[in-house]
Amino acid sequence: MSKLPLIGLSREELQAVLVEHGFEKFRTKQVWNWIYAHGATEFPHMSSISKDQQQKMGELFSIARPTIAKDLTSFDDTRKWLVEFEDGNKVETVFIPEEDRGALCVSSQVGCTLSCTFCHTGTMKLVRNLTAADIVNQVLVARDGLGEWDKPRKGEARARARHESAAARTSPEHASWDEQEASTGGDNKMLTNIVMMGMGEPLYNYENVAKALTIIMDGEGIAISKRRITLSTSGVVPMIEKCGEELGVNLAISLHAVRDELRDELVPLNKKYPIRELLEACRRYPAANNARRITFEYVMLKDVNDSDADARELCRLLKDIPAKVNLIPWNPWTGAQYETSSRNRQHAFAKIVNDAGYSSPIRATRGQDIMAACGQLKSDSERKKGEKVKL
Ligand code: SAH
Ligand code: SF4
Repeated sequence: MSKLPLIGLSREELQAVLVEHGFEKFRTKQVWNWIYAHGATEFPHMSSISKDQQQKMGELFSIARPTIAKDLTSFDDTRKWLVEFEDGNKVETVFIPEEDRGALCVSSQVGCTLSCTFCHTGTMKLVRNLTAADIVNQVLVARDGLGEWDKPRKGEARARARHESAAARTSPEHASWDEQEASTGGDNKMLTNIVMMGMGEPLYNYENVAKALTIIMDGEGIAISKRRITLSTSGVVPMIEKCGEELGVNLAISLHAVRDELRDELVPLNKKYPIRELLEACRRYPAANNARRITFEYVMLKDVNDSDADARELCRLLKDIPAKVNLIPWNPWTGAQYETSSRNRQHAFAKIVNDAGYSSPIRATRGQDIMAACGQLKSDSERKKGEKVKL
């Protein structure tokens, strides 16, 4: 009988599963805390739970991680994991460290249904939506890789010590918890932010993304607040308001063009939801204000969208929106038909936007040597012939 995976269940679902299998209600909080605050990967790590119960849970449930098919580190310390799920599908997850913080770029789909012409992921067919578990697991894998789990609190530590001295006599592998703990960074975590900017369009997989982010935001687990989470969309207008109301995370819009004619070409979803409608949805975004501005991403494509006139039109369009602009030098991939705007052009464009009162940093390219930069992600997952995509 295959074991029931617990990762990716909402708290309510976890409680229902535990109670259904004869565990006390209060175990929910403990199990949740062990999985999401301490990063337990096996039930014997859960030292505040009796040995008998640990064993029973181990027989019934699974909290195993997906496989790491690749783990690459760039010369600039950007890190990329190729995460492989049980069905063999793979996605990429990228960690971008900065001085005193770090963002994890999480994927929402295997491939993408949209085919933005400048994006490597867009050349893949959509293979499948990621489940909430697949999304949460990317964060767990990153915390493992960075060695950033919370240490168990005092009571838990004593119980753990008792448990481990017993466990060490019978089963040496349980000692691994200590080794893992020895490398934890305590409260000085590097993984402080989440950006839903990996492979896929998160608002075309909203239910799973919402469930995963709710787990990630839970204060008794991974505990990354909505203010430190940014969801990037190519402009799925009908889902934007719901996202703001239900999740309240920061919003990023992949704008990339200021005229519908050009945006239709670069971001084909624009034919369905044109610029005017998209910006209307931004004006109504419930979680935006002057302190929490909407980020407008603008990929700099030489002679395509990078003129002074484009910059001026951008400022005009953003009027009345609490906005900031992120200029992204286009990252090349084999087979693409674009070139990156020159440094001079990027700066001239940035100056116009900046002078109009919008912050407009040019995003530093990170992890290019390991193909981890924006828009370079692509896995070799392919939809099997004749297989239907469940959306
Ligand atoms: N599907 C979502 C989120 C993933 S893409 C979206 O489109 O917003 C994350 C960002 O990288 C988007 O702004 C996307 O337009 C940008 N991007 C895609 N390909 C790129 C490339 N080759 N160079 C630079 N940015 C790119
Ligand atoms: Fe999909 Fe975003 Fe890439 Fe467009 S830019 S193809 S929406 S991942």
